[in-house]
Amino acid sequence: MMIDLEEFREETRNWLDVNCPRSCCGPENILPDIIWGGRLQQYEHEDVRLWMDKLVAKGWTVPTWPKTYGGAGLSKDEAQILAEEMLRKDTRSPLYSFGMSMLAPAMMEFATEEQKLEHLPRIARGEIRWCQGYSEPGAGSDLASLQCRAVRDGDEYVVTGQKIWTSSADVSDWIFCLVRTDTSAPKHEGISFLLIDMATPGVTTKPIELISGASPFCETFFDNVRVPVINRIYDENKGWQVAKALLLHERTMLAAGNRGSRATIGRRSLLKVARDAMDTPVGRLPDESLRSEIAQSEMDRLCYEATLRKNNEARLAGNGMGPEGSMFKLYLSELNQRVADLRQRLNGAESLVWDGEDLNEEDQAVTREWLYGKAATILGGTSEVQMNIISKRVLGLPD
Ligand SMILES: Cc1cc2nc3c(=O)[nH]c(=O)nc-3n(C[C@H](O)[C@H](O)[C@H](O)COP(=O)(O)OP(=O)(O)OC[C@H]3O[C@@H](n4cnc5c(N)ncnc54)[C@H](O)[C@@H]3O)c2cc1C
Repeated sequence: MMIDLEEFREETRNWLDVNCPRSCCGPENILPDIIWGGRLQQYEHEDVRLWMDKLVAKGWTVPTWPKTYGGAGLSKDEAQILAEEMLRKDTRSPLYSFGMSMLAPAMMEFATEEQKLEHLPRIARGEIRWCQGYSEPGAGSDLASLQCRAVRDGDEYVVTGQKIWTSSADVSDWIFCLVRTDTSAPKHEGISFLLIDMATPGVTTKPIELISGASPFCETFFDNVRVPVINRIYDENKGWQVAKALLLHERTMLAAGNRGSRATIGRRSLLKVARDAMDTPVGRLPDESLRSEIAQSEMDRLCYEATLRKNNEARLAGNGMGPEGSMFKLYLSELNQRVADLRQRLNGAESLVWDGEDLNEEDQAVTREWLYGKAATILGGTSEVQMNIISKRVLGLPD
């Protein structure tokens, strides 16, 4: 077994040496932070497209998925070796999407084989970009109150209603959507989970810009949209089960760090700011309380990362966290807000910049991160909602 793994390491290393374009590896590589994929995906560099094609052909955008779904069928140990070898070469697969992190794991559990074969390979190849149609104007924390209606008409549903806060709906190809299929049942029992092509007549989106300007999201409208019944995942009126499973995967994704935000690019870590200050005539940051806040937040981050690693290693299936994901989501979003606030204070009021000419890029990135951080304790369920879940489902406290 060990020999097999060593062979796998050797093969992987050789393959990467031969196939990874020089520009896509090493510390100066040109790989974008994220490739979201989808019909609108553009590549600035031909090498990146070539690298993506090679990864897709190997199944290495989703290495642990079965080959029939576009993965490489790697074991956990093999996937770990692949990750190590990619790291050694300073390269990675930049493909990342809601399809990969949220929809696919829920589909693995609830979809039919035909549905998996139809949708999962297209996610693995980055051909289709998905967005999430859960929240509505009157249904956020109380998601099960959703009103978007789907009425059965032969082999189709006719969907009418509105979603809100749909991240990237205007640039997505398909939406996974919660709809009400029974208005007389208790609210959790009349919901179905539908996959809807955004190009279907009657689907429109209207962007809403966030305060940070970094993450636009949309209102999404459905006006008599005809959706084939075969696009329903799991049983009619049982969509709440799929919805809940998907939310666990969303929190697992959020617990791993916000890969969806570009706000952290282009600014120094807090430690680097503190170290850089040591090279100045002052020798260190003059404010003692700021120094101890930096030390505390760095320790908190290290503790968080160690706890997350321990939790991940303890999970045998490696496929989602369960309700304890809420603890990680809660802690990380609040830690990130604290750090962003601290960084903004370190930079001072003059660096609070939005746009304009001769802008300091780091100041802009820090400002945007600070503002984006405000959303982190709302998206994926607010902090109060996470605390409710932790108290009920992790600690088992009574209502
Ligand atoms: C950046 C961002 C991206 C998002 N992307 C998407 C997306 O792609 N798709 C999607 O469907 N949604 C998305 N959302 C929506 C998000 O899921 C909701 O905003 C969130 O669930 C909260 O719902 P709400 O905004 O309606 O607030 P409300 O539910 O109205 O909450 C208002 C306040 O009341 C508190 N509250 C509510 N109920 C309780 C309770 N039972 N106990 C204690 N306090 C309570 C909340 O904590 C909050 O402080 C996104 C949100 C953000 C900020």
